[in-house]
Amino acid sequence: MAKIKMENPIVEMDGDEMTRILWQLIKDELLTPFLELNTEYYDLGLEHRNETDDQVTKDAAYATEKHKVAVKCATITPNAARVEEYNLKEMWKSPNGTIRAILDGTVFRAPIQVKGITPCVRNWEKPITIARHAYGDVYKASEMKIPGPGKVELVYTAEDGSKESVTVHEFDGPGIVQGMHNLNGSIESFARSCFTYALDTKQTIWFASKDTISKKYDHTFKDIFQEIFDAEFKEKFDAAGIEYFYTLIDDAVARVMKSKGGFIWACKNYDGDVMSDMLSSAFGSLAMMTSVLVSPKGYYEYEAAHGTVQRHYYKHLKGEETSTNPVATIFAWTGALRKRGELDSNSELMAFADKLEKATIDTIEGGTMTKDLALITELKDVTTLNTQDFIKAIRATLTALD
Ligand code: NAP
Ligand code: MG
Repeated sequence: MAKIKMENPIVEMDGDEMTRILWQLIKDELLTPFLELNTEYYDLGLEHRNETDDQVTKDAAYATEKHKVAVKCATITPNAARVEEYNLKEMWKSPNGTIRAILDGTVFRAPIQVKGITPCVRNWEKPITIARHAYGDVYKASEMKIPGPGKVELVYTAEDGSKESVTVHEFDGPGIVQGMHNLNGSIESFARSCFTYALDTKQTIWFASKDTISKKYDHTFKDIFQEIFDAEFKEKFDAAGIEYFYTLIDDAVARVMKSKGGFIWACKNYDGDVMSDMLSSAFGSLAMMTSVLVSPKGYYEYEAAHGTVQRHYYKHLKGEETSTNPVATIFAWTGALRKRGELDSNSELMAFADKLEKATIDTIEGGTMTKDLALITELKDVTTLNTQDFIKAIRATLTALD
């Protein structure tokens, strides 16, 4: 069979530990036998980040601006232990943070659903995608412990020296205080990424915050979303038959629980952090969760939501068998290939992405899976395979699909 050609490249960002092993296996078994894989390769493995003083991470992000589509392997975000383990020159920043700062995007996370692994919430028939604003609020806050009685004020000093202030609290005893911020520009980008992704995936989108209590802060989020929607997206949404609406965060939580799924839930930074962990565990497993960074300028970077699965990697290094789930990493590749196909009008490539996803899901629904899924499935007579054999089983299903 002739291999499928790719006119333009995907930016390929290799990574660390067990996911780096998965990366090579997926390419060898599931991609290069079927595709003339065209990628621009960047090695974001920690050793190479260290050698290049992390320049490689920035170069990979700039390449994504050029080629528009990237696929990324999980990478180590160094901490003190990693600095020692890898003898690092510096505690390099999180690659995802660096890439996001350059591409200015929003991260969308969606579960991959299979029969036999039922979400804890029985009425969730379709995936729920979380869009998390990844800038500001409590993540960039300044905090203070207040030792005793006194007044706390917020003061804004404009460039011309004029001041505006508001009293936070008149303390009559010890307490705590926090000042946080956000930027209209960042909220606008967040809104545009959300609406773009909703159109791309033809899903209705909700945005929720607490504007009834936070009449300036959260209300600004609500207003910016509405202004951008009305000015730039409303007609396109009508044409696509999808909806945007704003609701209070408490109402959103209640509605999510009663819903059938199949929509996007846009969240402020903290809400997205908490709710994405709630959703991924309720849907089954972090290893079945994909993640895509969508920039407001139309760049896409696909990855798995989980990390480098360090514990499995150390077993692998000792020569022990592992049963690491490659599904989210496979779907990162299929997401990128499908988007490349869409941008290049390459229907063969898009069809291949669909077929590889189907082969992956069919393999699991047929009762063959990795250990993490075997532990939670309701299917009987399950075959649990190791990392390599599971990927080979997907290849066998894929080959048989023709
Ligand atoms: P992790 O890699 O997500 O793994 C945590 C645990 O979840 C694993 O030990 C494993 O449980 C289970 N798990 C996750 N993915 C799995 C898979 N594909 N198949 C089977 N089980 C899976 O998180 P971590 O071990 O806390 O972090 C390791 C490194 O990843 C850290 O250095 C961190 O900086 C990095 N990280 C990177 C990203 C990213 O690049 N996007 C995201 C998060 C973390 P069992 O051990 O019980 O089998
Ligand atoms: Mg979290």
